[in-house]
Amino acid sequence: MPELPEVETVRRTLEKLIVGETIAAISVGWPKMIKKPDDVHAFKARAEGQSISAVRRRGKFLLIDLEDDVLVSHLRMEGKFAVKAAEEEIDPHVHARFTFLSGQELRYKDVRKFGTLHLFASGEEVGNAPLNKLGPEPFDLEFTADYLLKALNKTSRAVKNALLDQALVAGLGNIYVDESLFHAKIHPLRRGTTITADEAAALHAAVKATLQQALDMGGTSIRSYLNGAGEIGYFQQFLHVYGRVNEDCRVCGTAIERSVVGGRGTHTCPVCQPGL
Ligand SMILES: [Zn+2]
Repeated sequence: MPELPEVETVRRTLEKLIVGETIAAISVGWPKMIKKPDDVHAFKARAEGQSISAVRRRGKFLLIDLEDDVLVSHLRMEGKFAVKAAEEEIDPHVHARFTFLSGQELRYKDVRKFGTLHLFASGEEVGNAPLNKLGPEPFDLEFTADYLLKALNKTSRAVKNALLDQALVAGLGNIYVDESLFHAKIHPLRRGTTITADEAAALHAAVKATLQQALDMGGTSIRSYLNGAGEIGYFQQFLHVYGRVNEDCRVCGTAIERSVVGGRGTHTCPVCQPGL
């Protein structure tokens, strides 16, 4: 699933490609992906004719600002946007097309069909699901080591599960949680209540540094992630634990282990991240 660095990279790419375009027509081949309004005809009628003024991101959501409305998209597992000439052949997994007056087209492709689109009047997205339950962005001033310490100390959940909770901090998923916990030398099964101030500070720094490095590399390309211009990211070359089971720890040489925490595949170094 794309996480903050991948969604932000898609945002930066799409911003260059679609801001200023005007939606002439919308075609939706998988109406169930439209979550708001309920009716796909209403969705089309509202968005058609509007120009795109900005592309934003909140957590793992992409927000496409129109003149009066905002389109909120979650790519989930396999969703991808691409901009093509309208006459170009259409992949059978393309489920929505936004054809612009210019003759270009924004296409949403999703092999797994888990992605979603919501259309809100501008501003209404903030107080409504799915965005209203999101915690601070990792690069917001509000997300401090002290905030993280207090939030973790309030929960007896495993620290990994707490970090995956989008209400605690928005944008982290399995890859960057595993990587951040490794760099902070914290075992993923540690209870939130046991995290010390020093550990929270190390974790806070690790989350920001890991996300920043991944952003600089254009995200992590595992499975099928592409940035919106058909390009892959390069952070997979810098992963320390995620996807490296039985490979040598880059710090101490011990074999990386895989376990399951909260139903998610979890990667740790047993020496760098001592257990409970
Ligand atoms: Zn190690």
